[in-house]
Amino acid sequence: MIPLPPSFEKLLALLRTLPSVGPKMSERIAFHLLRLPEDQIREFISAVQETYRTVRPCSICGYWDDDSPCRICGDDSRDKSVLCVVEGSQDIQAIGRVRKFNGLFHVLGGILSPLDGVGPQDLEIDSLLRRLENEPIGEVILALNPDMEGETTCQYIAKRIQALSQRIKITRPAQGLPVGGELEYMDELTLTRALEGRRDVS
Ligand SMILES: [Zn+2]
Repeated sequence: MIPLPPSFEKLLALLRTLPSVGPKMSERIAFHLLRLPEDQIREFISAVQETYRTVRPCSICGYWDDDSPCRICGDDSRDKSVLCVVEGSQDIQAIGRVRKFNGLFHVLGGILSPLDGVGPQDLEIDSLLRRLENEPIGEVILALNPDMEGETTCQYIAKRIQALSQRIKITRPAQGLPVGGELEYMDELTLTRALEGRRDVS
């Protein structure tokens, strides 16, 4: 092993805590950062600090914004009768690129995963049900990743909604979503088709 300076080791260790960054990638990023001009590094650091200081989850939907209610909840031109439930804010970005969807969102903040100790109380499910009681929502689209945990979570939420009200239509994006795929990485056309062809959850 060729030793590295402690500060560099620390940077590598921090980078490895980021999603999808392994040992090799952390080295590539760290060396890239070292080669940047100082003003660019300062800009980078201040962007992280500024975002961290100003961006918070919206008190209604959980989307990360610098205003609460966020600019989605506060947008009067949006269709308030359709609510799309997603795992995280990154999925709102993906669905936001589908121009045909003009409804509201609700961020769960995760997915049910008994193995990782994530139960219903760890997700924004109660706040979702409260919204359904208080807002004129006629349809809930459960847009979770089409994998096992996404499936289980959809079924659980659908049951809770049905117990609350029979009047709310519950749908899921249909064909086109590859099983095991991650929503945030899906292209616009795939997501458009999936949302257009959404089916009822029974
Ligand atoms: Zn919001």
